[in-house]
Amino acid sequence: MIRIDQLKLPVGHTLQELSRKAAKALKIQESDMLGMKIRKRSLDARRKPLQYVYVLDVKVKREGQVLRRLRSPQIHLVQESAYAFPKAGEGKLKNRPVIVGSGPAGLFCALMLARAGYAPVVLEQGEEARKRQETVEQFWRTGKLCPHSNVQFGEGGAGTFSDGKLNTLVKDPRGLGRKVLELFVEAGAPDQILYENKPHLGTDLLVGIVEHMRKEIEALGGQVLFGQQMTEICVERGRVRGVRIRPALPGARGLEQGQACSLGNEREAEEQGREEWELETEVLVLAIGHSARDTFSMLEKKGIPMEQKAFAVGVRMEHPQEMINFSQYGEKYPKELPAAAYKVTRHTALGRGVYSFCMCPGGYVVNASSEAGRLAINGMSYQARDGRNANSAMIVTVDPQDFGGTDILAGIRFQRQLEERAWQAGNGKIPVQLLGDFLRDKQSRQLGEIEPCIRGEWTFGDVRGIFPEPLAQALGEGITGCGRLIAGFDRQDAVLSGVESRTSSPVRILRDKCQESPVKGLFPCGEGAGYAGGITSAAMDGIRTAEKIRSRYQPL
Ligand SMILES: Cc1cc2nc3c(=O)[nH]c(=O)nc-3n(C[C@H](O)[C@H](O)[C@H](O)COP(=O)(O)OP(=O)(O)OC[C@H]3O[C@@H](n4cnc5c(N)ncnc54)[C@H](O)[C@@H]3O)c2cc1C
Repeated sequence: MIRIDQLKLPVGHTLQELSRKAAKALKIQESDMLGMKIRKRSLDARRKPLQYVYVLDVKVKREGQVLRRLRSPQIHLVQESAYAFPKAGEGKLKNRPVIVGSGPAGLFCALMLARAGYAPVVLEQGEEARKRQETVEQFWRTGKLCPHSNVQFGEGGAGTFSDGKLNTLVKDPRGLGRKVLELFVEAGAPDQILYENKPHLGTDLLVGIVEHMRKEIEALGGQVLFGQQMTEICVERGRVRGVRIRPALPGARGLEQGQACSLGNEREAEEQGREEWELETEVLVLAIGHSARDTFSMLEKKGIPMEQKAFAVGVRMEHPQEMINFSQYGEKYPKELPAAAYKVTRHTALGRGVYSFCMCPGGYVVNASSEAGRLAINGMSYQARDGRNANSAMIVTVDPQDFGGTDILAGIRFQRQLEERAWQAGNGKIPVQLLGDFLRDKQSRQLGEIEPCIRGEWTFGDVRGIFPEPLAQALGEGITGCGRLIAGFDRQDAVLSGVESRTSSPVRILRDKCQESPVKGLFPCGEGAGYAGGITSAAMDGIRTAEKIRSRYQPL
């Protein structure tokens, strides 16, 4: 297979033109091409007219001859090796591996282990995806929050109600990132994600995809129990022995899930009317996400080695998508182009970095709260990204000085303080303030030209007042500075909402290079454990954890 890099074609070109261009680059007849596969496609918006840049894999007749004739660094043999799951280790498992959390980390870990015959048990405090969707939409309509099933918690984890951006900056020498995309495609995602430079799925596709993965895990003997919250890790002589579990949702006691065998002393617990039940295991994967605050407190009390981790907080900002398209594509841009994205960063006079994060073209600001009396927001979009506004978090990194406390959970306390202020600023609704008023520390009374695109109830509120003044100052200065990068970015009627507080995990659960905690048998994994940020990197960490378990144990 021959790979052609940097093949450029104007926006609006046809597949035939792409094939013709490839044949021309290889100096062969199109009839000598036996197959062509798009490996990567990105849009080069730096120069006009806009061009797509391709990496193509092409199968041709007389490959050796063709290559010898061409002396171009852009054309070479494909040297890639396919991803391979490791061989099984020698260890014998007495019990099935238990995975806490069905977000990308937990789900991909469970899928890889299920495919290899380990029949994992996944515990998820939230609901299965479709029920969760109803619960979330009801919350957005009425403000009635379910603390165990919401935008953060439930099947698919925090990633399900998202923009579903799949790009990651994580180094990937072993092709794990590609493996993640391939597994998404096997579960129903469109092929394009395999070659788009910035692939995304959108919430409307993610719901079906996580369901598909869960059904495969179950078909391979694994079990995914919804509405079951892991409340304690049972450790004996420095080694995991099992977990304690409590039904977190009404009627969540697992029998109706058609379990063939009792999964621990669940039935006994039921007969004795006991709330909690236990599950024995010597392999426990903690894929709990960045918002599992109850669980972080339990881990801290239990003395599970953890440390503080820096994170960032800020606001979500909305602009007309058309304004962003103009700035990124130019005024007369071809209408078939997708909603444009941006990435901006500025340093303030005091040296703080203010930057855009989780930008959602044609998306919505969402109420992503998971605790009563505390309000956190995030962004999402649907596959089409056809909302009228572009939104992004504009955030500033915070450290122990900002949240005044050196203990492990100080960051969580700081997040909670900000979220309580946000809740008060909007009296339970998402507080909104225009940029001009934020800069002048004045309450907004009416909108300018931009109508917010928000999922969840909103009202005018003192967004600036949510933040300690040095952070509010930095955000104002940084956002204004971005007006030099994108025309109109600092327009006075840009819409700010608060508070974006869950950008990454405020703690790291310590682990060694085998991804194991000093507590033997405990495998902290994904974003909550502090080793990933985003859907793809969390899924990659889930696969890495499955590999470590596989390399140590025989399948059951
Ligand atoms: C609204 C929103 C939009 C986002 N958009 C994007 C995006 O476009 N692209 C991107 O890359 N990233 C995005 N993210 C971030 C991304 O979702 C996370 O990085 C990713 O989901 C982390 O995966 P994870 O598996 O580590 O944890 P999570 O996805 O957070 O999953 C953890 C799961 O564990 C469960 N759990 C926790 N504790 C317990 C317990 N004790 N018992 C039982 N279950 C428990 C939780 O209920 C949850 O379902 C977004 C996040 C949000 C909230």
